[in-house]
Amino acid sequence: MKCKKIEKLLLRSFDDLLKDEEKENLESHLRSCLLCQAKRKEYETILGLLRKEEDSEPNPYFLERIQTKIKEREKDAVWTSVKQWSIRAVPISLLLVLLLAMVIILFSPPKSQELSQSEVLLLRNLNPLQETTTLLEEEKVENKNMMLIFTAMEEKNDIRRYFP
Ligand SMILES: [Zn+2]
Repeated sequence: MKCKKIEKLLLRSFDDLLKDEEKENLESHLRSCLLCQAKRKEYETILGLLRKEEDSEPNPYFLERIQTKIKEREKDAVWTSVKQWSIRAVPISLLLVLLLAMVIILFSPPKSQELSQSEVLLLRNLNPLQETTTLLEEEKVENKNMMLIFTAMEEKNDIRRYFP
């Protein structure tokens, strides 16, 4: 048998595809042919390497673990970006709050503390729920008097202000 044919048999022998007759032919040739013996060793080492690679192929569990690790890292990345964003966002929101406060302070109308005494009395008179009717009647008269006094005083003050 020629070495070429034996090589084919050799290759098929690794897959256990040889008939008994072919096996015997191969064995007998290998015993006598050093070249084919060397070839067989070569193939064996190659196959050994291939099998090692197959063995070290990542199994599903390993793959899952890797994938979960990747997912975790992605989550971490998202979380850190959110954190970074919030860190950057906090000063911005603080600034906005300060700005809003300043706007409110600057543009709000002056508070009612500056109501004059007579104005306060007028407001009290306009509130019907404040007092019972009888008291209200009494107070009205009193308040009217008070109002007159206060307006008179204010007028006096105004006059003094303008003509000291
Ligand atoms: Zn040979």
